[in-house]
Order: sequence, then structure tokens, then C-alpha cells
Amino acid sequence: MRIDVRELKRQPLDLELQEPVASFPALAALQDGGQVRFLSPVRARLQLSRCAELIEVTGQLQLEVEQDCSRCLAPCRQQLNVRFHQAFAEQLPEVACDGDEEDGLTADDMGLELYDGETIDVAGEIEQQLLLAMPPYPLCSEQCQGLCPQCGIDRNRERCDCALPPARLSFAALKDFKVEK
Ligand SMILES: [Zn+2]
Ligand SMILES: [Zn+2]
Repeated sequence: MRIDVRELKRQPLDLELQEPVASFPALAALQDGGQVRFLSPVRARLQLSRCAELIEVTGQLQLEVEQDCSRCLAPCRQQLNVRFHQAFAEQLPEVACDGDEEDGLTADDMGLELYDGETIDVAGEIEQQLLLAMPPYPLCSEQCQGLCPQCGIDRNRERCDCALPPARLSFAALKDFKVEK
């Protein structure tokens, strides 16, 4: 997702891009792992503008994701909507500092990405933003009862007569807890 910025002026440039998930290595690897299915391409609306030495990118991303509920394993879909902002610099701005030069700040420290003066590549930033937006513990609903840890039935659909729920089990275990002397 390289964008030519040579003609870019102070006037913002609006872009709409669509890119298959396969073009994003980390997303593709997640999908190959099997826990995540991507149901749409990555859609990006980007606004680029030049501000002094910087190229400012404001973006809005959309991606439809299906993951397994982390409690009951049912597939659950959701649309990720992510906004982000990233500045690209051709070179690091000079930072006035009296200390020794070895401790110079990196582009990363300043929240900047470097570019070659002609094109910027937004793919890395887009991929990172989407990875961060992916819920680590997806739930089909906040009220999901999950699977019974003992008999494995889906407690959203059926009831079982298994003994205590795990919370009470661990409490009972505490009662018998003795400190060795
Ligand atoms: Zn669930
Ligand atoms: Zn059960």
C-alpha cells in the first residue's frame, strides 16, 4: 500500500483503498492459525496532508472478523472500526539537546515513521492498528454462559446437573487451606 506523495500539497488528499487480507502477513498468519476468519478485505479511508516536513495520515479502517467465542466456542462476527493517525518524516527532525549524541531519539520514540521522500507505505501501520483492535477474548455476548467445565455442554442452550460452578469450588478449596507450621 504505497502512496505517491510527491504531488501532495497542504491541501488534504482523500483516498479510499481496499486490500485483501493476504497482503498483510501478520493478519494472514492469524487466519492460517485457524482462530480467526476475515470476512472482508481491509477497507481504508485515508486523509493525507503535508504539514511542513511531515506527511500526516489520518485513517479509518474497517474489517469484518469472525472469531470463536472464548467461552462457548460459537463463531461470532464483528466489524472492526479503527481510527488512527500517523506522521511520516523524510528525516528525523533535529532535536536540540546538549547531552551526548548517542542517546538520540529514534523515529519510533517520536511516534514518526520514516519515508523516502516520494512514497509512504501505510501497510505496516494499518496492519498494526487492526491487530490491536482485535479482541483478545472474543465473546458471542457479554452474558455468554460458556461450556460446562465438567460435562462440556453449551450452557447457553442446555442445563446440566453438574455440581458446583468453578467459582464456588475454588472458594471451598480455600476453606481447607492450612498454613504449614
Ligand atoms: Zn459464547
Ligand atoms: Zn455440566
